[in-house]
Amino acid sequence: MKVAIYNNNVSRSVAVAKQIRSLLKQKSAGQITFDADYPDIVLSIGGDGTLLSAFHHYRKQLASIRFIGIHTGHLGFYADWQHTEIPALVDSLLADNGEEVDYPLLAGRIHFRDGREKRVLALNEAVIKRQLGTLSAAVYINGQLFERFRGDGLVVSTPTGSTAYNKSVGGAVVHPTLETMQMAEIASINNRVFRTLGSPIVLSKDDTVRVVNDSRARDVSFHYDNLNILSHDIAWMEFKVAPQKIQFAQYRHMNFWKRIEMSFIGPEGN
Ligand code: NAP
Ligand code: MN
Repeated sequence: MKVAIYNNNVSRSVAVAKQIRSLLKQKSAGQITFDADYPDIVLSIGGDGTLLSAFHHYRKQLASIRFIGIHTGHLGFYADWQHTEIPALVDSLLADNGEEVDYPLLAGRIHFRDGREKRVLALNEAVIKRQLGTLSAAVYINGQLFERFRGDGLVVSTPTGSTAYNKSVGGAVVHPTLETMQMAEIASINNRVFRTLGSPIVLSKDDTVRVVNDSRARDVSFHYDNLNILSHDIAWMEFKVAPQKIQFAQYRHMNFWKRIEMSFIGPEGN
């Protein structure tokens, strides 16, 4: 089994990376090797943001890689192993039987006015918004005009991304076994010209959402996970639940609702 270690440069992450390397060398008797280019397992050490970077770094190899997230800050959603659990994690790696769980991703197509097109894959979400003025866009679902949006922007998220930006704009938390995407508004203006639903929608895996940008403003930006495109040239973008998924090595069962409760409510809430 080939392992890659992908860590942020916080000193605790660097120390954890070193600890894992030496434990694996000591205990694995050559059964586990390190390969940063073509790994079977990627150990992301840092926060959820680090896992997003690791995902984009290895996005072309999603079918053959399983990820593991270790957090060195606060409890993460993707980064759900604590840095104090490293010996147990190393033992799980040595006893690996290919255990995995997979989560849906979002596929996006961004079409520019000059005819260029960029395809992206997102683990958390895709966002279109304007930096200064309001964004004006027409939203189509499966080719039919659904609404005319005016406001700060729109967020289209995956189930595991539902606890990130989506949640901040009032979207629902979605269990990651559901193959869906959710669209939520960021500060929509509602009047006689622009009328939107006003609530988040959860779409099926066969639905396509197209957002057609009406303005030539220079400050329209497109964000996906921790990556950004700033352009005055975006004509439209289209979103679907992706055919690919991300796989995580699942050595122990982590109850999703327990993790939500621990992250957002905590012991004081009970
Ligand atoms: P960041 O600014 O450090 O991330 C913002 C926060 O979101 C961090 O606390 C991050 O956790 C957390 N996070 C990331 N993915 C999450 C998930 N799936 N569920 C719950 N929390 C999550 O930037 P970043 O670390 O590169 O992360 C990029 C993400 O930031 C974007 O994908 C977007 O979801 C989010 N974001 C949120 C807002 C908002 O809520 N208003 C605005 C912009 C971007 P860690 O500290 O563990 O990294
Ligand atoms: Mn972060």
